[in-house]
Amino acid sequence: MDVRDPGCLFCRIVSGEVPSDRVYEDDLVIGFRDVAPRAPTHVLVIPRRHIPDAHALADEDAALVARCFAALRRIADDEGLEGGYRIVTNVGPDSGQTVFHLHFHLLGGRQLGWPPG
Ligand code: AMP
Repeated sequence: MDVRDPGCLFCRIVSGEVPSDRVYEDDLVIGFRDVAPRAPTHVLVIPRRHIPDAHALADEDAALVARCFAALRRIADDEGLEGGYRIVTNVGPDSGQTVFHLHFHLLGGRQLGWPPG
């Protein structure tokens, strides 16, 4: 599987070619603030490796997914989201996915509506 897709915006954020406001990074994943925040805290956690979406995950990616969630938990703590928060990942055009590199939205800091649109 490709490690990096040169045409992918988030691969270019991973490499540093496109700037981002990073709040977290380790050897497998990074977290950065969404450029168009939908809540007071809106951070995206992504694997460094190019994976198009959650549907493309394989059994061998279990540790990577666990790392994403560990990062999300840590960022939520750092952001002081004691009241709760939401983790969202869009899959495919019908969900509204616009960037085809797996990412988890971390949204918090306000009361979030349910169900989402
Ligand atoms: P999705 O619609 O689920 O694919 O989410 C993609 C997200 O990426 C959107 O919330 C965008 O606002 C966000 N986004 C797009 N370009 C950038 C960028 N250069 N830096 C940070 N976030 C971005």
